Amino acid sequence: MGLFSPFRAARRRRILERSPIGDGLWDWAIKEHRIFRWLGPADAARLRELATVFLGEKRFDPVGGAALDDRLRVSIAAQACLPLLGLDLDWYSDWSTIIVTPREYGVSKRDVDEAGVVHEYEDEFSGEAFDLGPVALSKLDVEASGWGDGYNVVIHEMAHKLDGRDGEFDGCPPLPRDMGYADWRAAFMPAFEDIREKAGRAPKRRSRRRGPRIDPYAAESPDEFFAVCCEYFYEKPFVLASEYPAVFAQLARFFRRDPRGEGRGDPLEPGPIL
Ligand SMILES: [Zn+2]
Repeated sequence: MGLFSPFRAARRRRILERSPIGDGLWDWAIKEHRIFRWLGPADAARLRELATVFLGEKRFDPVGGAALDDRLRVSIAAQACLPLLGLDLDWYSDWSTIIVTPREYGVSKRDVDEAGVVHEYEDEFSGEAFDLGPVALSKLDVEASGWGDGYNVVIHEMAHKLDGRDGEFDGCPPLPRDMGYADWRAAFMPAFEDIREKAGRAPKRRSRRRGPRIDPYAAESPDEFFAVCCEYFYEKPFVLASEYPAVFAQLARFFRRDPRGEGRGDPLEPGPIL
């Protein structure tokens, strides 16, 4: 994505030379997060470069007394850049700030329904991707991400950014030339209908009746379905591949990677780091 810019390339080269992520810090980040275990040496090295440039280009803005240290910064950068291994950093070039809150935060919402009645309510957010604006992440939720259990607030919010890159948050990012929008819809629409149906009849209490294996939050809307599928693609790839194989296949083509550890040495070349 984007045209080659010699100025940007020079700036990124300077970041790589002058502000490298230290070995100890990087080794910690890779070992700490189970979602990096499938990476081969070439992808691990590329992820380190992407994360380094990401840290140099994005501004972290802690609010509400959130304590931000190097580990948290590198943890966010590495997880945010994981989906870019087969893409490039320009996918994130339309925003620059990461707001970090200490924990989930309440937001007062106000809706007017069709009858003109105003509803005011509190909503809880663990993260948020603002249209053309910053990304907000709760520190507690970042620390709960990357363990391979299906939950990843960083990848979730980055997925919204990829989705909205064409100006529409509709569960479909702009696709490369070798992929088709009809194929994308044919994979995602029936899967979304399926999870809506399963979420609708999921029992309120635990039972042996089978509910969705994917977080039912995915049933909210097509864009949330895409974001949650991206979480599972990296957090629990085998679950996503068995539950919605066509969705998994589309995501593997889009991200140009297979986190099940297959297809290393993918012949599809990633974009240039600079
Ligand atoms: Zn979301």
